[in-house]
Amino acid sequence: MVKLQTKNAIMWFRQDLRVRDNPALVAASKCNQIFPLYIFDDKNAGDASPGAASKMWLYHSLKDLNNQLEGKLRFLIGDPKILLPKLVIDNNIESIFWNRSYEQWQINRDTSIKTDLTNKGYFVESFNGSLLWEPWQVMKKDGTPYKVFTPFYRKGCLNAKAPRVPLNAPDLIIAQKDKLCGLDKLNELNLLPKTSWDEKVIGNWKVGERAAHSRLDEFLEGGLAGYKNGRNYPIKDNVSRLSTHIHWGEISVNTIWQKCKFHINRKQVNEIDADQFFAELGWREFSYSLLYNFPKLPSKNLQERFDNFVWSKNAIHLNLWKEGKTGYPIVDAGMRQLWQTGYMHNRLRMIVGSFLVKNLLIDWRDGEKWFWETLVDADLASNSAGWQWIAGCGADAAPYFRIFNPVTQGEKFDPDGKFIKKYVPELSSLPGKYLFSPWEAPEEVLNSAGIKLGEDYPVPIVDLKKSREKALAAFAKLKETRSLKI
Ligand SMILES: Cc1cc2nc3c(=O)[nH]c(=O)nc-3n(C[C@H](O)[C@H](O)[C@H](O)COP(=O)(O)OP(=O)(O)OC[C@H]3O[C@@H](n4cnc5c(N)ncnc54)[C@H](O)[C@@H]3O)c2cc1C
Repeated sequence: MVKLQTKNAIMWFRQDLRVRDNPALVAASKCNQIFPLYIFDDKNAGDASPGAASKMWLYHSLKDLNNQLEGKLRFLIGDPKILLPKLVIDNNIESIFWNRSYEQWQINRDTSIKTDLTNKGYFVESFNGSLLWEPWQVMKKDGTPYKVFTPFYRKGCLNAKAPRVPLNAPDLIIAQKDKLCGLDKLNELNLLPKTSWDEKVIGNWKVGERAAHSRLDEFLEGGLAGYKNGRNYPIKDNVSRLSTHIHWGEISVNTIWQKCKFHINRKQVNEIDADQFFAELGWREFSYSLLYNFPKLPSKNLQERFDNFVWSKNAIHLNLWKEGKTGYPIVDAGMRQLWQTGYMHNRLRMIVGSFLVKNLLIDWRDGEKWFWETLVDADLASNSAGWQWIAGCGADAAPYFRIFNPVTQGEKFDPDGKFIKKYVPELSSLPGKYLFSPWEAPEEVLNSAGIKLGEDYPVPIVDLKKSREKALAAFAKLKETRSLKI
């Protein structure tokens, strides 16, 4: 329970960069004075330290939040375990509020800070600001975590207490400014890269809380109807593109959930579309539940029998995949979308992931690392769970024999080739028949499209049929080893 009318409070912003529906901020606003604070923790995160694209987004998001707070956000870089105990003394603070995070290193750090400050007599309170349901709220009857999505979501989440009604933004007149505030302090966090690649990438996005709400409104008006089917087509506008706003907490999932419910009641949107959208939010909850209950999710196969799998160490293949030069147009289009925009459509994440792990036989962790560095929405829970799903070693994962065929996937989900032509423009003049498999085009067709394979566009780096057979044989061997243990 929040102690009312304590003198000074720190509101420690983390992945909740918003003023609306922010439970910790609402609690802090009940004190006499608030010191809004952001600390870039460069000491405790280890491998979970945000990648370049993430840091770039964070910079712009903090700038936006600071504007909303009328320049009163403090910026610090360092170890919160050292910085917070000093700050509370220097500023005569009595209470500290934050919204919870769920990565293991964050849990360890936050627990240590909470214990330390509470023992010293400070009032510390944390809240749920980023999940619809706390991971420990959704467990099987026997108290163990769900490992299969459908029962987790249908039996667990949908039968748990409904997500709360969003909270209004509190009056922040009591927020205080001091020498730690200001854009020069934000710049000291060193979030932007030394080169200028970020300018092009960020040009694709509007960052911050207001942008997140506008994006949601646009999606509800224009994308939700037809979502269930349309979400499979990378060129269509049916997906919400809210993932980065959600990751940094620029909008709460409660707000999305409730606004979507309200919209459905008002507009009579097809329930099938809305249910599918809610289920996707459910996949995010599932990923967090997995990360919380299996903290090694980012680095360790959930299914131990995969530990003995011998992955290919082909650095040339890995680099060609990263650069979008595999010779498979839909794979290359996806990888180039990622590089140019910091985002990749979900269908493509599955196609490029399957190609890396199953056709190139490269370790899913190498793919995960590249996504971590380049995705603006890089999220430890969803990224690790997504890659383990693709590799077949995760919970409720795609079976090993499910290998996405990049040619038929392209034909099915980019039938007009518009997406490929957008990101692989060198193939634009190729007739649709050969757009998904340029190596099958007769010489004269390639000539008249102005393409010399191997020069203007790569020849395929692996043979689809042979690599598929090799993967099936390698993965089948796993079946014979120890059974699933997670
Ligand atoms: C290999 C792989 C890696 C991934 N890495 C990430 C990641 O780092 N960060 C990330 O947010 N998502 C990740 N995803 C999940 C998914 O691809 C993205 O959430 C989605 O593409 C974001 O686009 P959107 O906001 O338009 O999605 P929408 O279709 O509009 O979905 C709405 C929201 O639901 C959530 N969501 C949707 N699908 C999933 C899913 N499969 N798993 C978890 N949450 C989901 C996201 O928060 C998303 O914003 C990954 C998936 C795969 C297969």
